[in-house]
Amino acid sequence: MSTSVLVINCGSSSIKYALVSERREDRIYGLAENLGGADARIKGITVGGEPLELSIPYADHEKALETLLARLANYKPQAIGHRVVHGGSLTKAELLTPEIIDRIRAATPLAPLHNPAHLIGIDATMRLFPELPQVAVFDTAFHQTMPAHAYRYAVPKFLFTEHNVRRYGFHGTSHAYVSERGSQLAGQVKRGGWLTAHLGNGSSTCAIWNGESQDTSMGMTPLEGVVMGTRSGDIDPSLHSFLASNLGWDIAKIDTMLNKESGLLGLSDQLSNDMRTLIEAADTGHEDAQLAIEVFCYRLAKSLAALSCALPRLDGLFFTGGIGENSAYIREKTMAYLPHFGFALDKTRNNGLKRGTEGRIDNGTGPQIWVIPTDEEGRIAKETEQVVEQAKTADVHVQMA
Ligand code: ADP
Repeated sequence: MSTSVLVINCGSSSIKYALVSERREDRIYGLAENLGGADARIKGITVGGEPLELSIPYADHEKALETLLARLANYKPQAIGHRVVHGGSLTKAELLTPEIIDRIRAATPLAPLHNPAHLIGIDATMRLFPELPQVAVFDTAFHQTMPAHAYRYAVPKFLFTEHNVRRYGFHGTSHAYVSERGSQLAGQVKRGGWLTAHLGNGSSTCAIWNGESQDTSMGMTPLEGVVMGTRSGDIDPSLHSFLASNLGWDIAKIDTMLNKESGLLGLSDQLSNDMRTLIEAADTGHEDAQLAIEVFCYRLAKSLAALSCALPRLDGLFFTGGIGENSAYIREKTMAYLPHFGFALDKTRNNGLKRGTEGRIDNGTGPQIWVIPTDEEGRIAKETEQVVEQAKTADVHVQMA
């Protein structure tokens, strides 16, 4: 088999994995979930494209990875790429060394839920595959090109200089992949000004100029920005003191409410965080579901319009993520709030786009509008290969010197 990279995304009790080789059709992927529990299991797609379901009671991350790799015996990866949410000030993917692992650990206060889980995964793969090169690819890295006027908050300076309080942005691998792929399809490789809308359970927007992120909707944490499945997105920061003073809520309760009980779920009165369910309910007249969808689309349009300020010129917009790729309805509703830049959706093209396909959906009179299915695993594998290649070259130079 050709070179392949095992891409791993570790959560506190789950591991998403994909064995990525040159041909996308050959990809093997799946999810180990409920790790540590009696119902721990692996669900995925095997080498032959068959569904796989394997019970691994009480397995931890290491055991799950070991089981997984045993099943892929003939498909040994040449490298491992770890998705890491927060890289702090790291600006690009890095070979995992003790120093880089320390820096991931140091960024834990900025991503307390994610980075510790990634470190568990890194620790497990380091022990299981000490001979394989391992690379960390950061969600934040793509946004390190943002200028200070985009990443600074208007709060006292010492919070930035002494405590790293600033906007970082997330979903970097997706925004990077989609804008690169989209501008290629648009015939303007890396050139020009593009907006991206990554709309999944977590959602964010990004403004990209000549291949570099200029601004994005998520901030110091993934809570800032547009409305998401269960996250509120932007709110008045005074809500915290209002809830503390009037309802006696503590910070942990407020944090949980804003991250887990808000967004589409909150607006729909806890009906669902899933856009498909909301669209079905809205169709049957569910008013809270209708409002949730309207707020989602309006806030999204507002975010895209605001981000256009980061671009000297606007060439177009790319939709991606589960909602952006699959819902012509949400795309149409969002574009209805954005007539100002000359955007003109072609409804037939929009409605005709098949699930999982790339396609242009504007009528040719204004900035382009495209749907570009994201490929975060593919991008992580590519960056992993590049880092490993660079390290090999550097090694040869050191040996020759
Ligand atoms: P994640 O952020 O977890 O990777 P996804 O990118 O898979 O999530 O997006 C999940 C979201 O996509 C859910 O809200 C789901 O309802 C939505 N979605 C998937 N297919 C459709 C569809 N056909 N119409 C509307 N929403 C959809």
